[in-house]
Amino acid sequence: MPQSDKAVPAAGNIAAHFAPGPVLLMGEPGAGKGTQAHALMGIWQVPQISTGDILRALRNDPVQAQTPLGQLTASLLSTGKLLPDEHVNALVAHRLALTDTNRGFILDGFPRTLGQAEWLDHHLTEVPEPDGQMRLPVVAVNIHVSYNQLLRRITGRRNCPVCKNIYNVYSHPPKFEGKCDLDGALLEQRVDDTEAVMEERMRAYRAQTTPVIEHYRACGRFLELDGELPESDLTARILAEIDRFRAAGAERESL
Ligand code: AMP
Repeated sequence: MPQSDKAVPAAGNIAAHFAPGPVLLMGEPGAGKGTQAHALMGIWQVPQISTGDILRALRNDPVQAQTPLGQLTASLLSTGKLLPDEHVNALVAHRLALTDTNRGFILDGFPRTLGQAEWLDHHLTEVPEPDGQMRLPVVAVNIHVSYNQLLRRITGRRNCPVCKNIYNVYSHPPKFEGKCDLDGALLEQRVDDTEAVMEERMRAYRAQTTPVIEHYRACGRFLELDGELPESDLTARILAEIDRFRAAGAERESL
């Protein structure tokens, strides 16, 4: 993704007086959901909940990996196929029960099927925040990027296993090949970040996630943004639009 000098607010400046509520980041694999979630998390001081990260942690946990769910997770992750809704929904329910989600959270990679979206809508209206308050309505943000750009981003992506910094060998390489600039750790490539697995991930996305986008578009609390904008410009757009949505909601509530 191109870089820009455009200033986005510093972490914590917004956090004290703004509750973003539930924000869904949607987009094809490589659209930049993780990068944007990281930036927004720092500014809003709310957690990023990535189902991909939760599933990778489950697969890598020596105890969980021995369970039937651990084994199913490992095999589906390596092929790019989706896990069954009931397993992923249960993992998300467990995470949403933690008190750090009270002011809001950023869901990254969930919901990916209509079944997950319907479960989430129901869960957020039926199950209060851990502090007992009702949650704000969801705003869904769809980040759109062209296929060729996605391919470069996915096959070029390298991750630091220590600080989680994300590099790209084409557009944002580390200073020393294969090593993290921040802590020197050896960079890793996800097993599913290959062209062959990407094809399957895109197929799953088109078949199962496109209806989810239409579901949220129809609800009205939906944004479609250009994922080829410079990273910080895109962050600034998301901040402004979520602010606008929440301000409009507050006006309605005070009528
Ligand atoms: P991600 O890191 O979001 O690209 O997810 C990596 C992989 O985890 C996907 O290709 C799926 O195999 C699995 N996965 C992540 N999120 C979900 C979800 N919401 N539903 C089903 N499978 C998922």
